[in-house]
Amino acid sequence: RSKATGLGEVTFFEAGMQLQVKEFADLERDLRYAIKHGELFIYLQPQVDRDGQMVAAEALTRWCHPVRGFIAPVDFIPVAEESGLIVELGAWVFEEVCKLSVRMNLAGHGLPLSVNVSLRQFRQPGFVLAMRDTLRQTGAEPAQLVLEITESLLGDDMGDVVAVMSELSQLGLQFSIDDFGTGYSNLARLKQMPLSEIKIDKSFLQDLTEGNNDAAIVEAILGIAKNLRLLVVAEGVETQSQADFLRARGCDRLQGYLYARPEPAEVVLRAWLEPTAFVDDVQCSGSKVQ
Ligand code: C2E
Ligand code: MG
Ligand code: MG
Ligand code: MG
Repeated sequence: RSKATGLGEVTFFEAGMQLQVKEFADLERDLRYAIKHGELFIYLQPQVDRDGQMVAAEALTRWCHPVRGFIAPVDFIPVAEESGLIVELGAWVFEEVCKLSVRMNLAGHGLPLSVNVSLRQFRQPGFVLAMRDTLRQTGAEPAQLVLEITESLLGDDMGDVVAVMSELSQLGLQFSIDDFGTGYSNLARLKQMPLSEIKIDKSFLQDLTEGNNDAAIVEAILGIAKNLRLLVVAEGVETQSQADFLRARGCDRLQGYLYARPEPAEVVLRAWLEPTAFVDDVQCSGSKVQ
């Protein structure tokens, strides 16, 4: 705050800050516990192709806190990033997704699964080896796993990240740029990355009418993707008219509430696969997590 307009306001502001610091410390402590004690769950959200067939899914993490109930990623991922817990959380998520992938393959329904990965994980020494070990231990097929990196987190000094991506890509893993259009990607740098996909950020879909700015941005992204020979996924598709607009312009895959909300992996697998051998729904404080 650049200018204090009164002592009362300053005091109020400081009290608010203290609350935030305590809130952060509480969440960090609880999250550390949660990762080890089974309070995190993998949800899956389908992606459909141009014919509406489910062809892939994104893994999204949910936290069922024993006292607070369900906590959304927007409230705990930043805590994980800032505290460094994202490394542990990310390793857990990747292993779980590998196991899901193996089960799907065994049931004869192998589909690519996407996982969100933080840049902080990439910068962790030993990350590539840890990923390789998890792939080996679970027996997952790397070509069916897509690591999503958020575009806005990509900075200028990307050389080290591209090097790690290349090593992971040699293991067979796929890469996607998430929330594309919200960052400032150097297109030349993008070309050097071992990418197979970009995801159009949902903020561009809200007002998608012929000839307006969002429509122009979406068309430009589809053009870039075509030139770089990348698959394009649109996320946050909620209406039929958004889907029609995107399909008419060659968008390969659609993900959003129009097709399905993220649901517990067990529920999604049961719907896709044989209704045998799967455990009960996720329970959170006695009720189903939304
Ligand atoms: P994201 O990777 O861009 O994931 C898409 C988000 O959009 C998800 O929010 C999803 O539930 C939401 N979404 C999907 N379809 C629609 C729709 O039609 N309309 C609207 N309004 N939203 C839709 P979610 O699950 O709350 O996750 C938020 C963000 O948290 C993710 O954004 C991702 O960046 C991060 N995140 C989630 N799980 C993980 C994780 O395991 N690791 C890391 N590093 N980040 C994660
Ligand atoms: Mg994502
Ligand atoms: Mg993301
Ligand atoms: Mg996104």
